[in-house]
Amino acid sequence: MSDRQQELGITESKEHSPGEWYAEVVQKAGLADYAPMGGFIVTRPRGYALWEGIQDHLDGWFKETGVQNAYFPLFIPESYLEREKDIVEGFDPEVAWVTQAGNDELDERLAVRPTSESIITPFMSQWIRSHRDLPLRLNQWCSVVRWEATDTKPFFRTKEFLWQEGHTAHRDGEGAWEETMLRLEQYRRLHEEVLAVPVLEGRKPEHDKFPGADTTTAVQALMPDGKSLQAATSHYLGDGFAEAFDVTYVDEDEQEHVAHTASWGLSWRALGGMVMTHSDDQGLVLPPALAPEQVVVVPIWQEETQEEVLEYAAGLAADLDEAGLRVELDDRDGRNPGFKFNEWELKGVPLRIEVGPNEVESEEATLVHRPDGESVVESRESIAETADDHLDTVYAKLYATAEEQLDENVREAESRNELLGTIGQHGGYVKAAWCGEESCETEIKDEIAAEIVMVPLDEEEDPIDDTCAICGESATETAYFAKSY
Ligand SMILES: [Zn+2]
Repeated sequence: MSDRQQELGITESKEHSPGEWYAEVVQKAGLADYAPMGGFIVTRPRGYALWEGIQDHLDGWFKETGVQNAYFPLFIPESYLEREKDIVEGFDPEVAWVTQAGNDELDERLAVRPTSESIITPFMSQWIRSHRDLPLRLNQWCSVVRWEATDTKPFFRTKEFLWQEGHTAHRDGEGAWEETMLRLEQYRRLHEEVLAVPVLEGRKPEHDKFPGADTTTAVQALMPDGKSLQAATSHYLGDGFAEAFDVTYVDEDEQEHVAHTASWGLSWRALGGMVMTHSDDQGLVLPPALAPEQVVVVPIWQEETQEEVLEYAAGLAADLDEAGLRVELDDRDGRNPGFKFNEWELKGVPLRIEVGPNEVESEEATLVHRPDGESVVESRESIAETADDHLDTVYAKLYATAEEQLDENVREAESRNELLGTIGQHGGYVKAAWCGEESCETEIKDEIAAEIVMVPLDEEEDPIDDTCAICGESATETAYFAKSY
C-alpha cells in the first residue's frame, strides 16, 4: 500500500481498539467531524445522506399510518416544563437554559428542548375538542439537547442529537397502547429491513421508564463490543400528561373525558449502530437500502482498450440507472483501479462491478460484494436484474452475520456470581430471574457497570426462574442485563 493509501485507509482495528476504529471510520468515510465544543459534531454530507435515508423510510411509514409532521419551538418556557413534574425531575440535570438575550436578562428562563412533551401537549389541549379530533398524531424532525458530561462519540454520545419525536393523543388507553406498539414495530422494521440490524424488543423496568410514562418500550441492538444500544423508544403515557396539560375531549356521551397519550422517538444513534455493526477494517459497510451509491462500476483499461472498456462500462451503468439502482461510474483518469477499489470500500458501497477487456470480450461483468469480497462473474445481458439480486444477497449476508452475533450473545445466569462472570467474560445480554427491586440492579451496576436494559414486553410471562438471581427473593420477571451505551 502506498503512503497515500495508508493515509486514506483505516489504520485502527475493529477487534483490538473498537473505540478508535469507530472514530476513524466515521471521519475517514466522511460522515462527521468533531465540532469545536465538546459533545457536538458536524454532520458531513455523506453522514447526512444516511440520516435522510432513515428519514425517508420512517417518514413514509409514519404518513401511511396517520401521522402529520409539524414543528414546535426550540425553546420551552420554564413554567411549561414545570407543569409535568416528572419531566422536570427526570431531565433537570441535563437541561441547557437560555437566561439572557442580547444585554437583557429574560423574565422567564427558556429551556432548550430536551424533548417536547411540555410544549406540544398544551397545544393538543387547544386543538382537541371532540372525539372527532382523535386520534391526533403529530411528529417533528428536529434536534434536542441533553447536556450530559461524557466523551463525544459521533451518533452515539453527543449533547445535541437529531431525532424524530412523535406525540399522539387518543380516546382511551387502548388506542394509546396500540399506537405505542405500532411505532415500536416500525422501529424494529427500520432496524431489520433497512439497517440490517436485528433487535430485541422489550419494556424498561419501572425505575428506568421515561419520566412520567406509564410504560416505556424500546428496541435494543447488540454492538460488536458486547454493549447494548438503544436507538428508539416508544412510550405509553396513559393519562398523566393529558391530566397535567388538560387534554380533554367531549365524547359521544356528551361528557368530557381525559385523553390518553403516547410519544415515540428514534435518534441518529440508529445510524451509529448500523455503522458500528457492519463496518470493518477496510472502512464503512453500508446496507443496500441506505447506501447513497448501491453499485459502483469500475472500468479497468490500458491505453489501447480505453475506448471500448469505457463505452461498455457506461452502457452497463446506464442500464443499472434505468432499472432504478443508485449507481456510480468511476471513470476517473489518473487513479488506478486498486486506488478506486480501496476508496469505494472505505465509503461502504455494497456492490462493485469491475469491467475490463476480458469482460468486454465475453460480454460479462465481475461483481464483488463489499462485506466479504466474494466475487462472481455474471452475464452482461441481464445485469440490472442480477445486480439487484446481488444487493439482496449482500443485505442477507449483513443481516445473517449480525443475527448470529446476537443469537450467540444472549445467555442465562442463575446466580449473582454467574451473572457477573458471564457479562464480564462475554459481554452481550444475560437473562436472569429478577425480583423487580432496583437495589438488585444497583448491586450489579456497582460491580461491572451493567444494567437491566429491558424486561420482556409480555407482563404475564413467567420469569425463567422462581427466585431472583441476585437476592434470592421471589422473582417476578426476567431481566436482560447488559452494558449499554
Ligand atoms: Zn432481587
